Amino acid sequence: MSRVYNFSAGPSMLPEPVLKTAQAELLEYEGSGQSVMEMSHRSAVFDEIIKSTEARLRRVLRIPGNYKVGFFQGGASTQFAMVPLNLMTTGSADYFVTGNFSGLAAKEAEKFGRVHIAASSKDKNFTYIPNVKTADYSPNASYIHICQNNTIFGTRFAELPQRPGVPLVADLSSCILSGPLDVSRYGLIYFGVQKNVAPAGMAVAIIREDLLGQAGPAVPAMLNYKTIIDKESMYNTPPCWCIYMTGLVLRYIEERVGGLEAMELINTAKAALLYDYLDSQEFYKNPVEKRYRSLMNVTFTSPTPEMDKAFCTAAAEAGFVNLKGHRLVGGMRASIYNAMPHEGVAKLVQFMEDFRKANA
Ligand SMILES: *Cc1c(COP(=O)(O)O)cnc(C)c1O
Repeated sequence: MSRVYNFSAGPSMLPEPVLKTAQAELLEYEGSGQSVMEMSHRSAVFDEIIKSTEARLRRVLRIPGNYKVGFFQGGASTQFAMVPLNLMTTGSADYFVTGNFSGLAAKEAEKFGRVHIAASSKDKNFTYIPNVKTADYSPNASYIHICQNNTIFGTRFAELPQRPGVPLVADLSSCILSGPLDVSRYGLIYFGVQKNVAPAGMAVAIIREDLLGQAGPAVPAMLNYKTIIDKESMYNTPPCWCIYMTGLVLRYIEERVGGLEAMELINTAKAALLYDYLDSQEFYKNPVEKRYRSLMNVTFTSPTPEMDKAFCTAAAEAGFVNLKGHRLVGGMRASIYNAMPHEGVAKLVQFMEDFRKANA
């Protein structure tokens, strides 16, 4: 067996010790005589899995007591609709458009009310984050929506929009658990798990209690945060395997990494390795304004699109896969989520330098 360094933007790498635990428990989970994939979601064994997973998430993210946690199907994209369906009480909301997913979230919200674009970075192909202090906020927004880490463009918010009485709603799909987070600054946080947490198939929402119960009567039960949260994510059959894997990853972060402060140090060092290299030479270029550079998704281009293609082919042959950039940006993108080892980035940098020498 030889595992590659997988730089995919998602689904993406999982920590190897987690995969080994899942493998060891695949046929029989803790003396239950069955796999987590086979057991009833109403069983005592699964009840312990879902409860301990939520408890771990609360510990790791230090989620305050007045926030609820729910496990949802439909990925982050379903959250794009659930947010306005549940929170757009005034008929309008403010959106920051800083990339593809925040644009899609705004477009989805337009179906349910007035979407006011508080700021956009489209003018420079999303290579920066607009100033959150001077954005054009509207007077009666129900909430402010941001995508905190822009997976495709490789940017992240360095500061958060904060307006008294207006909850901040944030898509953290591609940066959740990458470092400590002050949950109290948000009204609602959501993330698809397939980038930095678990296999694809689930989104998690963390929502301040007072924001629950505002959805109108026509909102489908499955799209109402309150329905799912009141039933502790067991309104219907939840994504059991994903919840189990989320629990394993959280245990790994708690017990082997040492929490999110330690995780952030690892991620900062990993990203610095790649950005410092990019800044040290002229062959590859990263278009993002430095203070908005993502720790998770690093974009770069070589001198020509033909060279980019040759780079990706040669990289894949050397065991560095999924480096092709998104079609909206071109070039390359290295997604270096929590599970990408430091060694993987160090070896990629060495490969990049060898390729540069051979092709400059
Ligand atoms: C991947 C991604 C999404 C889309 O997630 P799905 O689970 O595929 O719907 C949304 N937002 C961000 C920031 C992402 O990275």
